[in-house]
Amino acid sequence: MDYKDTVNLPKTSFPMKANLGKLEQELLERWEQEHIYQKLRQKCADRPKYILHDGPPYANGHIHLGTAFNKILKDFVVRVKSMEGYNAVYVPGWDCHGLPIEHQVDLELGDEKAGMSKADIRRRCRAFAERFIEIQREEFKRLGGFADWEHPYLTMSYAYEATIVRELGRFFGRGGVYKGVKPVHWCVYDRTALAEAEVEYEDRTDESIWVKFPLTPESQAALPFLQGKRASVLIWTTTPWTLPANLAVAFHPSYEYVWAETDGEVFLLAKELAEPVLQKLGFAKYHILHTMPGQALERLKARHPFADRDSVFILGEHVTLDQGTGCVHTAPGHGQEDYEMGIKYRLEIYNPVGDDGRFVPETPLFAGMNVWEANAQIVDKLRADGFLLKEERITHSYPHCWRCKNPVIFRGTAQWFISMEANDLRRRALEEIRRVQWIPPWGEERIYNMVESRPDWCISRQRAWGVPITVFYCQGCQATLARQELAEHVANLVEREGADVWFERDVADLLPPGYRCPECGGDRFTKETDILDVWFDSGVSHAAVLEPHPDLKWPADLYLEGSDQHRGWFHTSLLTAVGTRDKAPYESVLTHGFTVDAQGRKMSKSLGNVVAPQEVIERHGAEILRLWVASENFREDVRGPDDEITGHLVEVYRRIRNTCRFLLGNLADFDPMADCLPYAELQELDRLMLHRLQKTIERVRRAYHDHEYHIVFHTLHNFCVVDLSSFYLDVLKDTLYTARADAMERRSAQTVLHETLLALVKLMAPILAFTAEEIWGYLPAASRGESSVHLSGFAQVNPAYVDEELAARWEHLLEVRTEIMKALEQARNQKLIGTSLEAAVDVYVPAGERRDLLEAYAGTLASICIISALALHPSDAAPAEAMASDVIPELKVQVRRAPGLKCVRCWQWREDVGQYPEHPTLCGRCVARLA
Ligand SMILES: [Zn+2]
Ligand SMILES: [Zn+2]
Ligand SMILES: [Zn+2]
Repeated sequence: MDYKDTVNLPKTSFPMKANLGKLEQELLERWEQEHIYQKLRQKCADRPKYILHDGPPYANGHIHLGTAFNKILKDFVVRVKSMEGYNAVYVPGWDCHGLPIEHQVDLELGDEKAGMSKADIRRRCRAFAERFIEIQREEFKRLGGFADWEHPYLTMSYAYEATIVRELGRFFGRGGVYKGVKPVHWCVYDRTALAEAEVEYEDRTDESIWVKFPLTPESQAALPFLQGKRASVLIWTTTPWTLPANLAVAFHPSYEYVWAETDGEVFLLAKELAEPVLQKLGFAKYHILHTMPGQALERLKARHPFADRDSVFILGEHVTLDQGTGCVHTAPGHGQEDYEMGIKYRLEIYNPVGDDGRFVPETPLFAGMNVWEANAQIVDKLRADGFLLKEERITHSYPHCWRCKNPVIFRGTAQWFISMEANDLRRRALEEIRRVQWIPPWGEERIYNMVESRPDWCISRQRAWGVPITVFYCQGCQATLARQELAEHVANLVEREGADVWFERDVADLLPPGYRCPECGGDRFTKETDILDVWFDSGVSHAAVLEPHPDLKWPADLYLEGSDQHRGWFHTSLLTAVGTRDKAPYESVLTHGFTVDAQGRKMSKSLGNVVAPQEVIERHGAEILRLWVASENFREDVRGPDDEITGHLVEVYRRIRNTCRFLLGNLADFDPMADCLPYAELQELDRLMLHRLQKTIERVRRAYHDHEYHIVFHTLHNFCVVDLSSFYLDVLKDTLYTARADAMERRSAQTVLHETLLALVKLMAPILAFTAEEIWGYLPAASRGESSVHLSGFAQVNPAYVDEELAARWEHLLEVRTEIMKALEQARNQKLIGTSLEAAVDVYVPAGERRDLLEAYAGTLASICIISALALHPSDAAPAEAMASDVIPELKVQVRRAPGLKCVRCWQWREDVGQYPEHPTLCGRCVARLA
């Protein structure tokens, strides 16, 4: 007789090897055909909402690893919240206006651009954005994300553009916007102002120079100790081109300053810096003529070394002794602190540099020269006239344009600003920061410090591709009309025709019919040509998306982006919401780190360490990319999926998959409706597993709730490998394969396998979205309840399955099992046995509680060690060669070959094999099972 037919081997058509590429494509098509996202919406419609608001990626290229990481992380959140029982509506968006797209369109157009109108350029930009939205949408969908992909929000849609105009109007209405001359980061190549977030600091080598400004005769006369001497103030700068705009020299009010005499000349500089600076300038010998606090220098004057004017002495707390001379060259048109000092001392915000980076025609000496050429010319002029004391090349950190990578300049220009002080915007934004939950918590201080110290928000740009600043100017009286009701009027036009209307229509068509200037009654107007900072566009997404969308809510529960958005989208969203609604647009904000390589270096084309998500998907499947996102602790920078990491992930995936396959295979003949046993009738080992399953559900659900996906990853992997594969499933094989198909102990095991698989597939679903769905299809229809795992909810912890007492008792048994396994390993190394079933084990244990437990569980212990026989003895009977446990006191284990013969059906070694004439190769247990 062939006993193979009498054992219950696992049966399943669930493939061992995943063909992820094919599977993913099929499932994506199926989900789309079945409208799974819409089904999920219907199913969840009455639940409480959980809204993750998508930060819009910029529509100008293929997605890269960082965007893929972000979108997958968001998909985890959305799926988890659905399975936790919320209505997690997720509307993706794209950021469409702005310089990067206009730049690429400029490159495509080349010389053609010169003959084009703003409206034509805008049409090209719109087409460009549309093209990349299409590309990115397909790439994002390929990652497996559930979203309302067919109805995304676009910052260039007419409705969104109208909201931008309205939100600016709200700022007008509250008096939060003003026009002022202010130095801003300015890219001379792109001819536009740049926001703080659009500036990158890179090292740059510049000329650093020490220059003397001679005191005016009046100031010299005011200080008796300078009688008959030549005195100058010493300044230091790394931007000689800003000297033509010098209007002042700043001193710290409480530092000590000295008048140092050397070779018949007197120099004014900070006391603390006198020694090193004068040494450096080659004045080995000097003596201090006089010392005075900075305070006493206020209002003295020096002559500008080449311009026909004086430079006034002013006081500022920003002066430091880190570098230079402690006497700070001040050009209010070229620096933020200089500007603030200029306001305080009522100096002109003087800027002689045009938007092309060249000195304007009225500039003496350097007219028409660009600032970088002028640097050398100015140094030459100072040298020729004897004002230059020293020059030196230094490398310092200098701001550069984020787009064109050219160095930027600080330049005073007329710009539009959102005031941080009007309506107490800064203070109220800071209060809101304290109220929001920041994950990880260090994000709070980071954004707090940024908002606390930031200057007013420069919102104007001198470009074409964006939303206009809807301000009118009266030609009669020059009044500036930045008014909410006019913005509202324009917004209604924009809603119908798009923001192009501003550029294409006459000014009269943009105003209400018959509109008259409220100042002078005039009826002739011009319109502002600047557009809004693109960060204002995305910053008002809460107003354009969260507020009007019936399925969303304001504020959102969560914003989730890379940690650079503390100064970007989180920041501008906060300011636009507090500035118009007095409240942050989010309850919590989660940030993730950046993807780096194995050496912790940022990924870049020049380093050749870029991993393209498309490549990983092609080679391994999107599932492996998703598993990677889950495996990394995103609170820090994350290592990209290089070959080593993907190799490991593929192995983890294989183990999880094969565990599920084993479960499916052993449930082939199990009908959950008919065959499930009640808890009280389950075997102890099965109840132990059910207990462990509850602990796993609890841990995984808590980790999901806390966005600790790497803990989910490790917990699920450990559960599959340690709890299931290497223990429970291994031990169960005997029962599953050799017991009668409908035997109680086999149904008991299957009841728990079924429960385990069902819980496991749901717990993995947010991460392994494709594989969980694949497994779902192989479950008995009665267990599923839903057509897709993604329409189901997480398993709950069932308190009836939690049995701490049982778990504690088994802890003791498993401790002994570990010792027996060590002894078996030794015996295997000594070639005493091959498989563990060839072993019989003698356990020597002193009388007591442990001995009593082992007596009661001797059979169980043998089966969980997968050995053929086990006998217990008093500890003093142990032979010398028995292995002594170094964990359990006085426990010894001795392995010998199991007596008897190997049963060909169950492979156990039994002394009764050969005693049954009808089945001479079987053990008594198997004979009984065949009857
Ligand atoms: Zn630039
Ligand atoms: Zn007027
Ligand atoms: Zn047998």
